[in-house]
Parts: sequence; C-alpha cells; structure tokens
Amino acid sequence: MDHKISVTVQIDMDGQDIRIITTGCLTRLSQSALLPLIRRARKLTAGARVTLDATPARHIEALGLDLLRDAIDYEVSLSQGPPVHFVVPTHLPSHLGPAGPHLSNGLTGLQVEPLKEGAS
Ligand SMILES: [Zn+2]
Repeated sequence: MDHKISVTVQIDMDGQDIRIITTGCLTRLSQSALLPLIRRARKLTAGARVTLDATPARHIEALGLDLLRDAIDYEVSLSQGPPVHFVVPTHLPSHLGPAGPHLSNGLTGLQVEPLKEGAS
C-alpha cells in the first residue's frame, strides 16, 4: 500500500494567512515529513495565522495527527512559532474504508520522504 502524502502551501498576498493543505496519507510516518514544512511556514511571517487543512486527505491516521499536534504544541510552549489551527474531518478517512481506491492488505510499501520504512 502506498501511503504518500502531498502538501500544498497557500500564502495570501500579505503573508499573514498561511494554509497548509494535505492530500494523500497523513500517517505517523508521513507526519514527520510534514513537520519541517509546517515549521518553515510558521516562520515566514511574524504573527502569521497558520492553518493545517487535512480535509482533502484520503487517509488520516489518528496517531499521526496526535504526533503532529504534540510536536507543534511543544514548539509553541517554547515560543518557537505561532500555534497551528488544525482542520480535520470528523471521521478520519482510511485506506481500508469501502470507498478507498486502493484496497489492499497490510501496511507494507510505505513511501515517505525522507524516512524509509524497513529496508530488510
Ligand atoms: Zn494511506
């Protein structure tokens, strides 16, 4: 199964509104690729409002979301950037759901840059 994440960053003209839109899979592995990007976006403009919009994502892992939130909360507590507003669907979509285009078994074949899962 292919758990690729895609990210689009939208910044308005005055740089005060930064929207990070994720499609694909937001999992505990892919969130680690997302974090540096969020970190950079939060430092673009002082006082910017940063929103992470995961509503178009095809697959969201609750653990991945938790890890991301924890990492950002921690940085906010250290005054390393503004808080991030999360927009996520009420029911987290899964690859295993009946509407998923990639019905598959197991959790192998993870593809996340720069992390690679189990080379053996
Ligand atoms: Zn997935």
